[in-house]
Amino acid sequence: MHVELHQNYRESPEGKAAKDILSACVHCGFCLATCPTYLDSQDERDSPRGRIYLIKQLLETGAASQSTQTHLDRCLTCRSCETTCPSGVQYGALVDIGRRLTEQQVTRPNYERAFRWLLRKLISNQQLFGFLLKTGQFFRPLLPPFLRRAIPPKQTQGATPAAQHSRTMLVLEGCVQSSATPNTNAAAKRVLDKLGISLVSVKKAACCGAVNIHLSAHEDGLDDMRRNIDAWWPLIDPDTTACAEAIVSTASGCGSMLADYGDLLAHDPAYAARASRVTDLAKDISEILMQENLEPLRPHSDIGRVAVHTPCSLQHALNLPGAVPEILNRAGFELADTTEKHLCCGSAGTYSILQPGISARLLDNKLQALNIDQPAVIASANVGCQLQLASKADIPVLHWIELLDEPAP
Ligand code: SF4
Ligand code: SF4
Repeated sequence: MHVELHQNYRESPEGKAAKDILSACVHCGFCLATCPTYLDSQDERDSPRGRIYLIKQLLETGAASQSTQTHLDRCLTCRSCETTCPSGVQYGALVDIGRRLTEQQVTRPNYERAFRWLLRKLISNQQLFGFLLKTGQFFRPLLPPFLRRAIPPKQTQGATPAAQHSRTMLVLEGCVQSSATPNTNAAAKRVLDKLGISLVSVKKAACCGAVNIHLSAHEDGLDDMRRNIDAWWPLIDPDTTACAEAIVSTASGCGSMLADYGDLLAHDPAYAARASRVTDLAKDISEILMQENLEPLRPHSDIGRVAVHTPCSLQHALNLPGAVPEILNRAGFELADTTEKHLCCGSAGTYSILQPGISARLLDNKLQALNIDQPAVIASANVGCQLQLASKADIPVLHWIELLDEPAP
């Protein structure tokens, strides 16, 4: 695709990066077949190719409309189109640039700006989110059913082992997960402990930056990343004697953000090298387990068939579509058949709050696809998907690492 950059973008790094990405697109339209929002609306402007044209138009004219913003907002950033595209178009990076440039052109109504600001501040702040969640959980029994289902019940996390092994890895505690599903990281610590690895939390590391980045608050997102790098650095500095082997993420959405630290801070001379080191060390928990002997974890109680939901961030961004089923197979679990594996569940960070209609339809489709083989339990790999699926599923929804943690919760 040929692009003539408008003079506003000719010399900007964003304009040049977007032009490079766009040049790979050959307009074939293969990506339409795997785009959840296009399948939902059948509107070309809600497809990857349609959004690519909208971004091209913005780069060539220097102007964006309300309609451009609406169709970019409706994108889940699931990146299903990226794994389908035969030309290797890096759509995820392109839509982030497109959103940023659109935000500079189109002023949102005051109530919308206030709501997005509030969402960013509430979700990315561990303490604040934890306090609000606890309050919601306290009043949960008094709420009407539709609201009750939106608030996850309080989860107990059990004891975690002391750090005792010479093999050490850091764990990203994250923002939502540490309050809503604290047993996930606790289970990861117990499981890795049995495999001879100590998984260590670093207090000052918090939100990975994805909430701010995906709500077009780019600078705030970069600040989240810098804070995490500063917190981790004493334990990942290659010159330190007790250097951690990896930075482990148990939420694949956060893991896919860590994978981008190097690129996103490449222009910051104070952080570029350290950000790149974080990206090199970042691993989803499934990548760790894939490399380990799982015998110490067997046997498990027979819990019935497990339907695996592989989050978009794990399959399309981190390119690990088969990791969780393979690990659960090796660990002796019986897996249920599922369909439409490549399609998003509608969670997508704050998408379920900002686009509730599309999100609810995608959730219904996903639950239908996960339930075709009558599983006993659904296992996911990302806190957002886990909460989204649990809000409407009739069977338990867990993080898959909890299945490897005995006794089963
Ligand atoms: S599949 Fe790739 S090359 Fe084809 S239209 Fe979509 S993004 Fe462009
Ligand atoms: S990221 Fe997902 S929703 Fe957005 S265009 Fe690509 S496939 Fe469609």
